[in-house]
Amino acid sequence: MDNINIYDTIIIGSGPAGMAAAIYAARAELNFCVIEKSYASGGQVLTTYEVDNYPGLPGLSGGELSDNFKKHCDKLGCTFITADITDITPGHIAPNGFFNEIDLSNKGLDSVIDLIFMLTTTEGDAFLTKTIIAATGATHRKAGIEGEDRFAGVGVSYCATCDGAFFRKKDTAVIGGGDVALEDAIFLSRLCNKVYLVHRRDEFRAAKALVSAADKIDNIEFVFDSVAKNITGNSNVEALTIKNGKTFEERTLPVSGVFIAIGIVPETELFRNLVACDEAGYILADESGKTSMPGIFAAGDIRKKPLRQIITAAADGANCVTSVETYLMK
Ligand code: NAP
Repeated sequence: MDNINIYDTIIIGSGPAGMAAAIYAARAELNFCVIEKSYASGGQVLTTYEVDNYPGLPGLSGGELSDNFKKHCDKLGCTFITADITDITPGHIAPNGFFNEIDLSNKGLDSVIDLIFMLTTTEGDAFLTKTIIAATGATHRKAGIEGEDRFAGVGVSYCATCDGAFFRKKDTAVIGGGDVALEDAIFLSRLCNKVYLVHRRDEFRAAKALVSAADKIDNIEFVFDSVAKNITGNSNVEALTIKNGKTFEERTLPVSGVFIAIGIVPETELFRNLVACDEAGYILADESGKTSMPGIFAAGDIRKKPLRQIITAAADGANCVTSVETYLMK
């Protein structure tokens, strides 16, 4: 038992929330590590062309900002481990030194002394920790339209900054009306011949600054009140058919690429059986990051919150570390 390493906290995820938590955990001299699924730290930010609203660092690309976060973590000696966690098991170390799982149906976890969690990975490795900071972020929502799966990777993309270069001088469509859709349309307008921005309503959800920037670009056409029906072509995408929800008219846009930017879904699969989530799957946690499970804290886009931005994710990471320290003191 003496030679088993039980971390004070394990941060799962290395986006802005996870890396901010790592910086604060290092400064708090906690025994911790960051477990990330991919070698590239940064999460969703990595695919952002330009981040223009992070205070003090205007005009950086998402990659540059992530790189800065990572360098800051490295300077403080944070340990990053690349692994795919498959299970989180709450339990405690029995007097014989073995890990004993706790039956979750047996409520009253608050009274469990020395609650710890065992994290197991696809490689069969196990990590023990007193607390977890869940910072796994969110991923792209699929549109569920005909042709979406068939042409995924050959004309249908969820990341304009990753795939935009394949559509140089071509016509493309972006579906969505949020910040990401507007950012994608602006980014693509610099590469593509024409960009149709297809939105289901007549008003964008995106920040006003993005909407007016896109509005000033000649080769972006706003297509309002329209839903995508299907994506067609032979070996590659040749057209996107849309239907106007007010006039019921159908229109076929002759595009080679369709960029789907209709929001995100939280990566909370690992935590669903452990903590309370809302109907969309976001973890219910307050600003302190506290979830319904003692010892598990949630930071960033996986948490139910009114504003999902890099700055709010980073703030969550910092708050969670303070909550972890308070929890460990008890
Ligand atoms: P979002 O803000 O949730 O917007 C999703 C858009 O897609 C909405 O306009 C929505 O339409 C539309 N939509 C949703 N489901 C649809 C469907 N089935 N068919 C057609 N359209 C659909 O998502 P997002 O733009 O991906 O942004 C995600 C989060 O990241 C947001 O909170 C955003 O502010 C944040 N973000 C932050 C930064 C930054 O910090 N710099 C940058 C980019 C994004 P309705 O408007 O009709 O609902």
